[in-house]
Amino acid sequence: MILIIGAGLGGLVTAIALARAGLPVAVFEAAGSLRETGAGLTLGRGAQHVFRDLGLQGDVAARACPAGSLPFLHWRSARLLMGAPDPGDGTPDDGQADIVRHMYRADLQAVLLDHAARLGVAIHTGKRLTGLDQDGDGVTARFGDESIARASLLVGADGVRSAVRAILHPGDAPRFTGHVAYRFLVPRAAAAPFMGLGRSAIFIGPKRTFNRYTMQGGNVVNCAGLAETGEEVPEGWSLPASVAEVAAAFPDWHGDVTGLIGQAQSIIKWGLYDRTPLPRWSQGRVTLLGDAAHAMLPFLGMGAAMAIEDGWALARCLALEPDVGRALDRYEAARRERCETMQAMSRRQGEMTQAMDPDALVPAAVPMANQALMGFDPVAAGV
Ligand SMILES: Cc1cc2nc3c(=O)[nH]c(=O)nc-3n(C[C@H](O)[C@H](O)[C@H](O)COP(=O)(O)OP(=O)(O)OC[C@H]3O[C@@H](n4cnc5c(N)ncnc54)[C@H](O)[C@@H]3O)c2cc1C
Repeated sequence: MILIIGAGLGGLVTAIALARAGLPVAVFEAAGSLRETGAGLTLGRGAQHVFRDLGLQGDVAARACPAGSLPFLHWRSARLLMGAPDPGDGTPDDGQADIVRHMYRADLQAVLLDHAARLGVAIHTGKRLTGLDQDGDGVTARFGDESIARASLLVGADGVRSAVRAILHPGDAPRFTGHVAYRFLVPRAAAAPFMGLGRSAIFIGPKRTFNRYTMQGGNVVNCAGLAETGEEVPEGWSLPASVAEVAAAFPDWHGDVTGLIGQAQSIIKWGLYDRTPLPRWSQGRVTLLGDAAHAMLPFLGMGAAMAIEDGWALARCLALEPDVGRALDRYEAARRERCETMQAMSRRQGEMTQAMDPDALVPAAVPMANQALMGFDPVAAGV
């Protein structure tokens, strides 16, 4: 039995990929129920290849929409700095094109839960991992409710504050990056006066970026304002912010930005943390994936996509290599360099778009223009 800790996007994709490969798997999640959590996700091309390979693409594409050309606009004037205006309407495509897509996170979670259920994957909620022990034959996981579970392999897919990582690497903590994200949704009708520049846009200015795009068939606009801050803020879905606070963080910005902020009903404030790269993700019969292994800043919108690619690659390695140790070596060989590059590029993208004068932006130098990085197909590359 393979035990996955965490039913986030990475954990669920891993469980689906393992079950499709005929490997026995169970997921243990700390939350008492799998509540759908809301915000938009940019899902990179690598993740789309994984969805296709796992037979998820039809259901994903039915609820996602093409991301278009991701235009960068000047924070005050809305002058086009990079890319092209996005004339899309937010409606789904057939999922076949090799492109980035936007999707409501709760919709992706629902698709993954549905496929996991169809494959018979057991998901145990209310199971917070508190400890683990390894011996020659397997791993014993201990949970907060005093239950235990035994497995041949334990996968820590438990996010940026991973308990599994803390056990493997005591003293290694997430690093506050000095950034806060303000995340909110605006219904189509309320957003309409502020969408004249197209359905997606990333406004960039000194120490701030504001990203907005339509999703859910064009009915909802996802907004995320990223700002540098001196105040350390926790992460998660439960810390609210007022319209006044967000408006104060984006003063004098283009009217489409301030207009959308003015229409926000419920804003979540989210501190941004990343992780220092580890020399190894695996120890014995325990390994890490997704944010637990390599949490990164969201300036490239690639954190979830990396967790999804990791899950596919780990399952493939385990299907190909009966020996757990060799399978984990192969998994790390396939994934570490790409994830560490993406981590570093995400930080660099933040520095370029926030620390620099946008008028000095050199489009060819931004990581989004890097085809080898952004157009990578993990399925074709194999493990
Ligand atoms: C503002 C912002 C915008 C972002 N935008 C994008 C984007 O557009 N595109 C993109 O690809 N990525 C984006 N990301 C990154 C993305 O959200 C994460 O990289 C992704 O959610 C990581 O998935 P995961 O499965 O590794 O972890 P998570 O989604 O965090 O899942 C971890 C799971 O483990 C559970 N858990 C935690 N501790 C325990 C425990 N002890 N025992 C059992 N279960 C436990 C948690 O409850 C959770 O369900 C963004 C992030 C932020 C902050």
